[in-house]
Amino acid sequence: EAMSRLLAASVSDEVVHGHRLIDLPGTAGRLANALSRDLVDALASSDRLYLQYQPQVSIEERRVFGVEALLRWEHEVYGLIPPSVTVALAEDLQIVDRLGEHVLRLACRQRAAWGKSVADDLIVSVNISPRQLQDADFDLKVLRILAETGLEPSLVELEITESTSLAPATQAIGALLRLRNAGVRIALDDFGMGHTSLHYLRELPLDTVKIDRSLTFTSQGDLNEHVIRSIVALSRTLGLRAVVEGIEQPEQLPRFIDLGCARFQGYLFSRPLESGPCLDYIRANAGAA
Ligand code: C2E
Ligand code: MG
Ligand code: MG
Ligand code: MG
Repeated sequence: EAMSRLLAASVSDEVVHGHRLIDLPGTAGRLANALSRDLVDALASSDRLYLQYQPQVSIEERRVFGVEALLRWEHEVYGLIPPSVTVALAEDLQIVDRLGEHVLRLACRQRAAWGKSVADDLIVSVNISPRQLQDADFDLKVLRILAETGLEPSLVELEITESTSLAPATQAIGALLRLRNAGVRIALDDFGMGHTSLHYLRELPLDTVKIDRSLTFTSQGDLNEHVIRSIVALSRTLGLRAVVEGIEQPEQLPRFIDLGCARFQGYLFSRPLESGPCLDYIRANAGAA
C-alpha cells in the first residue's frame, strides 16, 4: 500500500512533465526503474496493454461518428497506470515507437473487426506522441499497419498535439502530408491549451481540431468564450471539423451548440469503454437508419 501511495506521488503530472521519470532520485527512481522493466515486458507480451474507446457524438446526426482509442496499462501490482505515465516512460526508454505501433495496430484491428456492425464511415482516432513523429519512417509504419489490417485509411484519424515541436521538423509535416494524401485523417488535439499558436492550423494538413476540455468551463462573456468563438470561426474558415472535448455537464452544451459546434466527446455522453460495451453504445446511438 505504501508502494501504491509512492507510485501515485511519483506519477503525478508535475513529476511526469517536470522530470524524466528514470532520473528521479531514491525510492521513486527505483520504482520508476521497476516500472520501466515492467513496461518492456508488457509490450513484449502485450496482453496488459490494451485500449478503451470513447465515443464521439454528432448532435445533428444523433449518432456516434467516431471513437478515440485510449491506452490502458493494467499493472499486476499497481493497477491501472495513466496513459500519460505509460507514454512518458516509453519515451524515456525509447520504445515509444513500438508502443505507438502496438496502439495503432490494436485500434485498426478493432475497427476492422467491427466492420459492418457499425456505420461505414465510423472513424477510430489514435493519439500520436510527438516523439513518434520524429521517426523518419513514421508514415511508412502507419501505412504498413493499415495494409496489414486491411483498414480503409480514411477510417483512421491521427491525433497530434500542439506541444509537438514541429517547427524545425519539416520532415514530420512531410510525413503527415503523405499520410493525408493516402487518405488518413489528421486531428490537432488539445487545441486552446496555449502551447502554440493559430499558425498550426495553417501549417498542418488537418481535418479536425479538438477543442481542449480546459476551454469548456465558460461563463457568459468570459475569455474562454471569446477564445472558443475564434477557434470555431477559424476552423470553419479553414474547413476543419471541430470536436469539443471533455463535456461532462448538460449545461456546457448549449453555448457550443449556439456557436455552431455539433460534435462532442465527454463523460456526458460516455466514458471510455471496453470494445464490447463501446460497440453496444455505437449501435444504440447510430442515428437514423
Ligand atoms: P486526450 O487525447 O486529450 O484524451 C482525452 C482524455 O480526456 C482521456 O483521458 C479521456 O478519458 C479524458 N476525458 C474524456 N472525456 C472527459 C470528461 O468529460 N471529463 C474528464 N475529466 N476527462 C475526460 P486518458 O485516457 O486518461 O488519456 C489522457 C491523455 O493521455 C490523452 O489525452 C492523450 O494525450 C494521452 N494518451 C492516451 N492514450 C494514448 C496513446 O495511445 N498514445 C499516446 N501517445 N498518448 C495517449
Ligand atoms: Mg486525444
Ligand atoms: Mg485531447
Ligand atoms: Mg485533453
